[in-house]
Amino acid sequence: MNFISTRGGEKVSAARAIVNGLADNGGLYVPEKFPSVSAEEMQKMLEMSYPERAAKVLKKYLTEYDEKELLSACESAYAKFEGDPAPLVRIDDGVYMLELWHGPTCAFKDMALTLLPYLLRKGADICGVNEEILILTATSGDTGKAALEGFKDADGIKVMVFYPSEGVSKMQKLQMGTQEGSNVNVVAVKGNFDDCQTAVKEIFSNGEYAKTLLEKGVVLSSANSINFGRLAPQIAYYFSSYLDLVSAEQIQMGEEIDFTVPTGNFGNILAAYYAKRMGLPIRRLHCASNKNDVLTEFFASGVYDIRREFYKTTSPSMDILVSSNLERLVFEISGRNSKLTAERMAELKKCGKYAISVDELSALGEIFDGGSADDDECVEAMYSVFEDVGYTMDTHTGCAMKVAQDWFAKHKKDETNMVIVSTANPYKFPQDVLYAVTGNDVKDSFKGIKRLHAATAMAVPKCLKELRDKPVRFTKTVDRKKLFDEVLEFIK
Ligand SMILES: *Cc1c(COP(=O)(O)O)cnc(C)c1O
Repeated sequence: MNFISTRGGEKVSAARAIVNGLADNGGLYVPEKFPSVSAEEMQKMLEMSYPERAAKVLKKYLTEYDEKELLSACESAYAKFEGDPAPLVRIDDGVYMLELWHGPTCAFKDMALTLLPYLLRKGADICGVNEEILILTATSGDTGKAALEGFKDADGIKVMVFYPSEGVSKMQKLQMGTQEGSNVNVVAVKGNFDDCQTAVKEIFSNGEYAKTLLEKGVVLSSANSINFGRLAPQIAYYFSSYLDLVSAEQIQMGEEIDFTVPTGNFGNILAAYYAKRMGLPIRRLHCASNKNDVLTEFFASGVYDIRREFYKTTSPSMDILVSSNLERLVFEISGRNSKLTAERMAELKKCGKYAISVDELSALGEIFDGGSADDDECVEAMYSVFEDVGYTMDTHTGCAMKVAQDWFAKHKKDETNMVIVSTANPYKFPQDVLYAVTGNDVKDSFKGIKRLHAATAMAVPKCLKELRDKPVRFTKTVDRKKLFDEVLEFIK
């Protein structure tokens, strides 16, 4: 299957799309057309394990990858999860939580980042890239840890993560600082996330730097969520959760269901839309935001406007104004008009906003709607479910819960089954979750974990429990002008 850029001009193979990450003109790679999954294939997939289902879905797009190899890569990636990689938990009649946080770093990013090293290395081999690959990532928290863990000790790949010295939680800092592996490095950058991200982008766009690296046998790549290699593995769990509902006789094959997805960069929910385009019976997609409700406004008005205040919330992975993957949806809704998409993205860059047409908005409304929750509403939603059925969720999932509850309140007769996508283990945000379910405030994360365990009896994941006793390997903080020196030092 070939991939094209949302901004026109290019046509490349899947392997090349993954290796490049971003198209030359700044556009995002999208499949030339959506592959479909037939009724017969769905029947067959019913009997399959999660890795088998994932390999089947991936093969639809990654046609030049070997099917057996893809399957064995999925098997080793999802063997790193504790039990079922994507279990469904029923919390009410017709309401289910899809838990995507049983992987090595306790957040849904593991679903894709445990597989990306294979997709990237293999893709480079297919394209004849023999150099060592250096993954550079600027992170505001979850992505950095998931990338480090995913790429640790991968052959022919090194990974380097930069995080803002003033922008990550204590838990996240510890998770990254204690990272194991012979091919990893973590450096704090003085300033906030924007400073850090801008400095990393500069390295990517500097031709002289690229030349220097190439002379040393190294090429740069990114593990960012705009890479199709991040998106593809996410499509699989939408299929798998649907099949699980059929297997459990909660729905009939072919019956439509809804998903509510806590959204930041629009990667997770976009994967649901791709699944729908491949034929998965999805009726509606509910896009959940926190107080940074740019997307809620977009789905209501058709205007994407980032000229607004930026809020720091208790769901930090959704604190985002420019949701990069939305470009892929806007491209589809425009009738795949790459010229118009390029114009809109240029307008966003120049004026901080763009608008879609009335017809496009109404087509979008057939599938999508948006809602948001501020920190207090999120706490209320988490508390109400804990109180009613004893189920504990994290703050990001809490936002989604509030949006789903609003939908239920407005559509009392709606009998469509709802799956709420749960994106992080509650213990990743122990103080905020503890506050939501008990009203107690504690200052220390480990104390939060202990109290949360006492309140919920939920098992504490190994990866967070052991953090306390792990030696910290990475403690360096540098000025943002010194990033490239750090890169050179690391690849020496
Ligand atoms: C990254 C992340 C999100 C947002 O996902 P997108 O694909 O960026 O929309 C939501 N919740 C958690 C816990 C995350 O780590």
